[in-house]
Amino acid sequence: MTQTLPRSEPTSPVQALLERLHDTHAGNTAGEVASYIPELALASPDWFGISLITADGSIYEVGEMRHEFTIQSISKPLTYALALEAIGEVEVRKYVDVEPSGEAFNSITLQPGTNLPLNPMVNAGAIATTSLIRPKGATAPFERILSEYSAFAGRQLEVDEAVFESENKTGNRNRAIAYLLKNANVLDAEVEDIVETYFRQCSTLVNCHDLAVIAATLASTGVNPITGERVLREDTVRSVLSVMASCGMYDAAGDWLYSVGLPAKSGVAGGIIAILPGQLGIAVYSPPLDVHGNSVRGVKVCEDLSEELHLHVMSPQRRPPPPVRSASTCAEHHSKHLRPVEEQEILRDHGSEVRVIELQGEILFAAGELITRAVLKDLDGVNYAVLDFAAVREIDPVVVPIISHLVDAFEENGGEVVFSGMTGHPEFTEEIGNLRAASELPRVRTFVDLDLALEWSEDQLIQRWGGNEEKGEIPISRHAATQDGPGADREAVSIVRAPGVPGRHPDIRPGRPGR
Ligand code: GLN
Repeated sequence: MTQTLPRSEPTSPVQALLERLHDTHAGNTAGEVASYIPELALASPDWFGISLITADGSIYEVGEMRHEFTIQSISKPLTYALALEAIGEVEVRKYVDVEPSGEAFNSITLQPGTNLPLNPMVNAGAIATTSLIRPKGATAPFERILSEYSAFAGRQLEVDEAVFESENKTGNRNRAIAYLLKNANVLDAEVEDIVETYFRQCSTLVNCHDLAVIAATLASTGVNPITGERVLREDTVRSVLSVMASCGMYDAAGDWLYSVGLPAKSGVAGGIIAILPGQLGIAVYSPPLDVHGNSVRGVKVCEDLSEELHLHVMSPQRRPPPPVRSASTCAEHHSKHLRPVEEQEILRDHGSEVRVIELQGEILFAAGELITRAVLKDLDGVNYAVLDFAAVREIDPVVVPIISHLVDAFEENGGEVVFSGMTGHPEFTEEIGNLRAASELPRVRTFVDLDLALEWSEDQLIQRWGGNEEKGEIPISRHAATQDGPGADREAVSIVRAPGVPGRHPDIRPGRPGR
């Protein structure tokens, strides 16, 4: 009998990095465990966990993952999010501003002039935000809060009653803040009720893994990557991450943004979350705190992760791939259609009249500008432009008028722009069509794929430069792409004449052949 030796799995480089950082920083004994809430002083300064979860749900973890601790101030962005969705941005801004305070988290101050708490990440702002969560039917405010936190974590969370009692007994500084808010007419409700709800939300138990899931949910536009549940709207995520970036680390927020460069939030039990929007969430748990009330090891680990993985949001390297994947002409880029020698000659001599531009990735505002330049530069001798969108993942609606304008400009120069590979972008096609219709212009000719667009362009050249006159007029129902044999595996096409557009060539759109 052959014996199989146990095979050690190769460690992923991300896992190896987390393990290295854990080893490096475990020996750092700087900082003090919070003791102003007596129950928190029971934490061991040695507890230390790091978790990184990507926006699509890959999990990397090292160290203390199971131990539960109280969420403390990491509750603040979550309740702020709930308030934004419950009563709307405009209403929330009547109670709390979004200015960095440069002061300690428990500072007893309001914004001079407005008399509002400076931001929802410090205690004053958080107490005001908590007061905005009203009962919903039979659901009490705290139940709403706990159920939102649970959706964030992807499991039912509970409150640490001992920590709650401990803070409720000793939290007179927060009561002072609440009375200040009451005096400034920021709080409508009773101080005792509000601080109790606030202390309860701070006493919600989480582990380091839960915090990373919460962070990853904020990273993935508000959808929990583990459960798939949408917890927040996208616009709420943007507001919450903005205020975390500018205010999340209290009076160390400027330093943090400068060195780590990620929206983040810390809590006095030793948790920190940091988010790279669209990519990942990080959580670190280690109770010893620095003078700002931020976990010492947490800050160090985030600094190192940001540095080693190039996570800083302001990083100049953080650029989307160029939108123009290739720019060529019909002289080099041919359709699969086999042509007689004399036609091939025409294409060789006149192919440069057709500009072929393949696009890719996400087309955002600046990409629209780049595409415009690629299509409109040196138009001498250029009569057609094929824009292929097959490798485009997303088109920001702000780009619609820019592309529409480039089509108009190309036409004014006597040419014609055609699109291909639009199947994944029906809204874009529709909106361009609407814009053109508003100026009484015909729809842009659209082909299912680049090959068909090239073939059509070649037909134009052949027709124009003395090839078989009829070539360009082959009805699409007899076209190679719609017949059995080679080409039949292509998406089928049919001819649709654009209604009410006289003199316009047929549009080619997806459909069944021979209709
Ligand atoms: N419950 C704590 C307090 O209000 C939360 C503070 C924090 O985590 N920074 O003091």
